[in-house]
Amino acid sequence: MSTAATSFPERNAAEVADVVSVPETTAPEVKARRARQRRQMYIAQVASYSLGASVLLLYAYDGAVSMVVPSLFWLSGLLIIGTFTVLSEAGFGDRFDDHYLTVYQISAHMALQLVFLLAVPTIGVTFLAVLFLIFAFGTLRMTSSQAVLTWGLATCGLASVFLGSDLPIGLPVATLLQRTASMLCFVLVIGQCAFLGLFGATLRKVLYRRSIELKAAYQRIEELAELDELTGSYNRRCIMRLLDAEIEKSRQDSTPCAIALFDLDWFKRINDAHGHPVGDEVLRTFAITIFANIRATDSFGRYGGEEFLLLLPDTPGDVARRMLERLRGIVADLDWSAFSPSIRVTISAGVVTLRDNDTADSFLARADSALYSAKAQGRNCIATG
Ligand code: GH3
Ligand code: MG
Ligand code: MG
Repeated sequence: MSTAATSFPERNAAEVADVVSVPETTAPEVKARRARQRRQMYIAQVASYSLGASVLLLYAYDGAVSMVVPSLFWLSGLLIIGTFTVLSEAGFGDRFDDHYLTVYQISAHMALQLVFLLAVPTIGVTFLAVLFLIFAFGTLRMTSSQAVLTWGLATCGLASVFLGSDLPIGLPVATLLQRTASMLCFVLVIGQCAFLGLFGATLRKVLYRRSIELKAAYQRIEELAELDELTGSYNRRCIMRLLDAEIEKSRQDSTPCAIALFDLDWFKRINDAHGHPVGDEVLRTFAITIFANIRATDSFGRYGGEEFLLLLPDTPGDVARRMLERLRGIVADLDWSAFSPSIRVTISAGVVTLRDNDTADSFLARADSALYSAKAQGRNCIATG
């Protein structure tokens, strides 16, 4: 029997999203994509009506109904589809949130089934079966209020047929051909309902996958926005934000807070002697070494060039100094010969603890001047301030 079934291939996520919730945008490419989707749906509807008309043809061949019934049914179906196709091609539906005009389509197809139910009640059950299919199609994209509305319309139509008339609504089973046609009617309706169900399930799966991908992409964007590309440490913006937060937390909890500003010694010489790419590798290795030797609560970020900032929450000055001495020693003792036999890398750092009147700027400025004095003391050295 006839249906309003659609036949969609699995679409890409953008297309699927468009089926479920229509975006605000009505860019030409969006309109073209929607028109393509509707075209596919109308082709499927033609196929569905053709199948339905073929079943009716069997009834007619057997003499259960007039030969006019299948052709009229088919033509009426095509008329409805043709009308919506013309509207679709004219872009009429694009003015609405539901560009498929689902309620109108469902109402028209339902009305057609009810008219044929009234006109040819002896095969009425077949038209009733199609109503299930029409609703299965509708639930793919109807909102709950649209579903209630169309259900109400269907109820009115069915009430007028069942309660407003005493028509002998039937399903011909007198001959083998009639039984075959009746069976086919249900087989086709069930098959098309199953197809719609599968399509809905595919839609959900694609959307679920898409939401996972979006979550991962969002997380990655957040990470990238916080990390320094070369070293994988926090970038300057992020480490400065963390510094502000740490200062506030330290004041709230009345805990000590220390920071260390690092600078690689004679780094320009390393670049000059071994090339910039080796300099990059040294920076990367240095960062990895620091990561491997700090606590989970510490934060390490690139302050600029070959300068790095280490935040040491809840750490008194003497502990911070010892930690930095240890880090300095680890870097100095690293075997850098893999980069070049003659290479030697050391760091200097200024370590300071938070004072009551410190702002982030003054805190950093003190760390910077401690670093300066570490350099002045001959490098490969930790100074406090
Ligand atoms: P000092 O001991 O006084 O710190 O000497 P220095 O040579 O390390 O100091 P200077 O500030 O003169 O040089 C820093 C160098 O770091 C200069 C710059 O080219 C290099 N540099 C900054 N960022 C990068 C980077 O991302 N990759 C590489 N390879 N080099 C960098
Ligand atoms: Mg330097
Ligand atoms: Mg420097």
